[in-house]
Amino acid sequence: MAQYTPMMQQYLKIKAEQKDAFLFFRLGDFYELFFDDALKASQELEITLTSRDGGSNDRIPMCGVPYHSAENYIRQLIEKGFKVAICEQVEDPKTAKGVVRREVVQLITPGTVMEGSMLNEKENNYLASLSAFPDGSYTVSYNDLTTGENSVALIPGGFDAALSELYSRPVKEVVVASDFQDSQKEMLADRLGYTVSYQDETEIQTEFHSLVKELHQDKLLVGFGRLLNYIQHTQKRTLGHLQPVSVIELKEYMTLDMYSKRNLELLETLRKQGKAGSLLSVVDKTITSMGARMLKKWMERPLLSQDAISERHDQVEGFLAQFFERETLREELTSVYDLERLAGRVAYGNVNARDLVQLRNSLNRIPGILNTLSQFDHPSIRELYETVNPLEDLKDLLEESISEDPPITIKEGDLIRDGYHTQLDEYRDASKNGKQWIAQLEQNEREATGIKSLKIGYNRVFGYYIEVTKANLRHLPEGMYERKQTLTNAERFITPELKEKETMILEAQDKSVELEYELFLEIREKVKAFVQELQNLADQISRVDVLQSFAQVAEANQYVRPSYGEERIVDIKQGRHPVVEKVMQDGTFVPNDIYMDEETDVLLITGPNMSGKSTYMRQLALTAILGQMGCFVPCESASLPIFDQIFTRIGAADDLVSGHSTFMVEMLEANHALSNATENSMILLDEIGRGTSTYDGMALAQAIVEYIHGKIKAKTLFSTHYHELTTLDEQLERLKNVHVRAEEYEGNVVFLHQITEGPADESYGIHVAKLAELPEVLIDRASQLLHQLENTSAGDEAAATSETDEQLSLFIEEQKEKPAEKKANPSSIEKQLKSLDLMEMTPMDAMNELYRLQKRI
Ligand code: ADP
Repeated sequence: MAQYTPMMQQYLKIKAEQKDAFLFFRLGDFYELFFDDALKASQELEITLTSRDGGSNDRIPMCGVPYHSAENYIRQLIEKGFKVAICEQVEDPKTAKGVVRREVVQLITPGTVMEGSMLNEKENNYLASLSAFPDGSYTVSYNDLTTGENSVALIPGGFDAALSELYSRPVKEVVVASDFQDSQKEMLADRLGYTVSYQDETEIQTEFHSLVKELHQDKLLVGFGRLLNYIQHTQKRTLGHLQPVSVIELKEYMTLDMYSKRNLELLETLRKQGKAGSLLSVVDKTITSMGARMLKKWMERPLLSQDAISERHDQVEGFLAQFFERETLREELTSVYDLERLAGRVAYGNVNARDLVQLRNSLNRIPGILNTLSQFDHPSIRELYETVNPLEDLKDLLEESISEDPPITIKEGDLIRDGYHTQLDEYRDASKNGKQWIAQLEQNEREATGIKSLKIGYNRVFGYYIEVTKANLRHLPEGMYERKQTLTNAERFITPELKEKETMILEAQDKSVELEYELFLEIREKVKAFVQELQNLADQISRVDVLQSFAQVAEANQYVRPSYGEERIVDIKQGRHPVVEKVMQDGTFVPNDIYMDEETDVLLITGPNMSGKSTYMRQLALTAILGQMGCFVPCESASLPIFDQIFTRIGAADDLVSGHSTFMVEMLEANHALSNATENSMILLDEIGRGTSTYDGMALAQAIVEYIHGKIKAKTLFSTHYHELTTLDEQLERLKNVHVRAEEYEGNVVFLHQITEGPADESYGIHVAKLAELPEVLIDRASQLLHQLENTSAGDEAAATSETDEQLSLFIEEQKEKPAEKKANPSSIEKQLKSLDLMEMTPMDAMNELYRLQKRI
């Protein structure tokens, strides 16, 4: 250390406290980075790496960004999940003795950014914390610094359940204790891609006690305490804008675990990781960014209360009924700014006059919106209308006080309107009068001297002056004019009178700028008092926006209002998959009914691959979710129970859990469903057991169906290619067979995507193979084998076996040439059998191997 210059020593001391962040070290007009930070940042930001002498033998790697354009660089680092510590000079370099004192004034992290340009306006920016407790429960706490929103949930169900909860929100960064389990840290950071940060302090300081009044459990306090301490650690400033913490009651919402959210592609698609192709993309016709954020929240937490669902449906109905008024409303919403984030910034204390103008403009739209709302006839819209408080007082205040087009800076005047404050008006008058007097003086002086080109000007150094060209100097009377400045062609003079007026003008100007600043701060404080109401208003406008969006979607896509009954009956007529129908050509999607009466819990769906089984299953889940979030649903009519949870095991297993095999993941997900589902849940199991050998898989599939049927009684859709399972309906009375119709047409198979009662009666695998243009000889052989197998099941086993024996030779001729192997002893055959990795073999390999072994007995 000692070898370094004092400044580098200071740097190293500060850096030691900021190990996991890039330290932006302020040096004059630059932020500089040194050592490893410089090496890494120069790569990440593609900026030039240089070096400087720092007292040691080696030069120190260095790179820097200009202070005024730092935001852009910081944003790039934050977007990549890094943290940035901003270290400023905290004393005036002119008066400092020795090295200027520097301190970290803010730690910017992905979960705590406030700067507008670093935020996605359609998405909340949550910082979360996870805390584990000895009894296996967790708390998940959230904060959105941009809106001040705080909440916390207690999750009794273990780490998986906590992750599912976490996964339900756009979280950027997760704070945990430093002794959090390594495997869990890895899961959060590597597999789920969160920035993970550490905070061990959980005690809530006195100044925040009012925020946590509603938290009556120690675990919630510990959980939220961790988050608060981290926020304080990063922000290093007062946090007056944080809202009281609300407790998320998981019981009020449908549980959608992480697997289902991903599998059902609610917010983004599995492959593309983007919004396009997701359910959200179909139903998001919101206008405002706060509406878009609310819609996401609703989709993440469908409701369970029938009244709450009905209220939303009533409102959608109300908006749907009046096209023209809805169009007007949509138009009006376009000029409402992000009130929620504006409110957050007001509370945070960093709004400028332009923000207040945005606020004023938005508030100015509210009466229009209210007027439009009042024109809807449906009583539910009237109720909505009555909850909106247009905040007239605040609007009037902003209207009277803030000028038409103020600058961004708040220290150079032009912020406040004339007429708002008498003293300010007087200063302005004085300055204006003075200027007029000066304009008049120019006139007078010209006349007195007869110099037409005489003019009065102003510059920062000399103030006001009278300028006379050299040619005209002789016309100027002696004595009255004091020479101030000589230019090539002219001389500049002042007079005592001019000086006097100048002082008056400048004083008035200074005072007015100063007063404006004070007034602005005062107004800002007054606006702050409205934060809570502004947040309410933002909430109501967002709600109006989401509901009009639902109406818009219902109209464009012909959705209908679902009805909910006490009975556990699913009755969807002509249902469609909301996303698939959009990507297909108009009218080509084949609608299907889904019917499960009180006595039916399991639909066993059979049918060839690619015929539409999983589309049909997803359709039910998406319809249930849409309905319970308050949206109408894609079908002709729907009567549904309220589902408390949805579990899915669908589609490509993508391993989130930790290097497990596909089959293991499948079993984990199945287990998750089986251990949490109730009779009010929905379970979708697609081709379960596919990942293991035939009989093994089939046995498991059957056992799972029986278990659900006997123990859980959840409404279950179970698709399978194990045709054998279709006979289960003889033993399981709450199980029904349905199948996807496929027709043969001129020897080819045509999928009709139509679901019909009863089991599928034939396997179309061979036809699909034919469509895929497998070799003709292979197709013929497969048809032959199928035929034999069918005969086998008809009882003619002996004939089939002998024929098979003979025919198999077709594929394994070379084996015949090795008679030496024929008399092997049985135990070696056993060994060989055992060593086969069946999971890795194709059916053809297996057949060949069996044949070879059989020949050796
Ligand atoms: P499976 O699960 O039986 O293998 P999918 O549900 O994945 O089949 O459907 C395969 C394809 O068939 C889908 O990508 C879609 O294009 C089409 N499809 C499915 N259902 C329908 C339908 N009802 N109407 C029209 N096309 C459909």
